[in-house]
Amino acid sequence: MRDVIVIGLGAMGSAAAWQLARRGADVLGLEQFAEGHGKGSSHGRTRVIRRIYSEGPVYMPLLSRAYALWDAMAAESGETFLVRTGGLDIAPEGAPSLTNAIACAEAEEIAHDVLDADSLRARWPELRVPDGFAAVHAPDSGQLRSDAANRWMRKAARAAGAELRFDTPVLGWRRTGDRIAVETPTGTETTKRLVIAAGAWAGTLLPEIDSALIVERQVVGWFAPSTGVDLARLPVFQVEPPGGRRYYVLPPLDGSGTKIGLYGHRGERGPDMCEGRAPDAEDEALLRSGLAEWLPAANGGLETLQECRFTRTSDDRFIIGNWPEDEAVTLLSPCSGHGYKFAPAIGEAAAQLTLGETPAVDLSPFAVTRLR
Ligand SMILES: Cc1cc2nc3c(=O)[nH]c(=O)nc-3n(C[C@H](O)[C@H](O)[C@H](O)COP(=O)(O)OP(=O)(O)OC[C@H]3O[C@@H](n4cnc5c(N)ncnc54)[C@H](O)[C@@H]3O)c2cc1C
Repeated sequence: MRDVIVIGLGAMGSAAAWQLARRGADVLGLEQFAEGHGKGSSHGRTRVIRRIYSEGPVYMPLLSRAYALWDAMAAESGETFLVRTGGLDIAPEGAPSLTNAIACAEAEEIAHDVLDADSLRARWPELRVPDGFAAVHAPDSGQLRSDAANRWMRKAARAAGAELRFDTPVLGWRRTGDRIAVETPTGTETTKRLVIAAGAWAGTLLPEIDSALIVERQVVGWFAPSTGVDLARLPVFQVEPPGGRRYYVLPPLDGSGTKIGLYGHRGERGPDMCEGRAPDAEDEALLRSGLAEWLPAANGGLETLQECRFTRTSDDRFIIGNWPEDEAVTLLSPCSGHGYKFAPAIGEAAAQLTLGETPAVDLSPFAVTRLR
């Protein structure tokens, strides 16, 4: 019998397996697809990390812990996962996303500056910022090398003694006396405790929560510069026009082009979004219209399009916590399109919850009970 079985080895399951194994637990990680697959929510070269969080103060303790852990991972691995390029939240002056971001920066005493449209255009002439817009700039925001970090967390989990099995789908689980039985095509595994980090598939393992999870198709694209301008010096940014939709942009890193995504993309939702569908011309056109509007110098040749999925909750807040029906089960469904930056801290929280330690941060805002 294992101490802990982790179902799903995306960013959250890999972080949990690593943090559990380094605490001495006997860990088995089970993943339905191949190692490094591109069918979930954690694949891809990069992710945005924002030091200022307009989504609300509840995230700040977890975010601060994540920053500390990203830096500790760099020190331990000798690799740089977090590249501090700076970051901008751009919106019309007085917009809630902007006032929330500024309030967060002031309350948390995070280094920042507020720029009006003229100052933005002077500092980054490539950005197309209409009059009446403004931004808050945080130097500690930036890009995460997500594929590299996922690889390292799996490697660190194995180095700490975890067994990670790929191409091994979990067919179901059930409590049997003092243990939990986990069914796989190759047999039944037993464990004292279970971590469910199954992303868009969480509802298949916990039907009671299925209706509270919304799976949404996303496509991101990388585009070469349309002019010879060096866009690598730009900060990451997200921009939310009035009544419009929020684009997020990651300038070139490690020789790539500019990455762009649109929250909610084409609004395609439903469990069948787990299946995946190859990106098409309409996906590309939607992303290009964002570049044309906000960063035309990046609207050059298409490098690649990549499909992915958000697992959203009705309040776009994460689910992190013990399962009310069985305290030996911990559920991790932190996505809604903004969970990656928190991965090491969420892995740590999962290990603390599972092993009966006091979590480093207050997780009550993320309890599943709020959705049931
Ligand atoms: C396009 C896109 C852009 C994003 N950009 C950002 C960003 O810039 N910044 C940011 O912070 N966040 C971002 N996010 C969100 C972030 O990537 C996710 O929150 C995070 O990756 C979720 O990780 P996860 O481990 O929960 O999910 P996943 O990576 O999907 O992992 C779940 C795993 O469970 C496995 N699994 C499911 N069911 C079973 C089963 N029965 N048996 C075995 N294995 C199973 C799946 O195969 C999968 O590998 C973005 C997401 C997308 C899609």
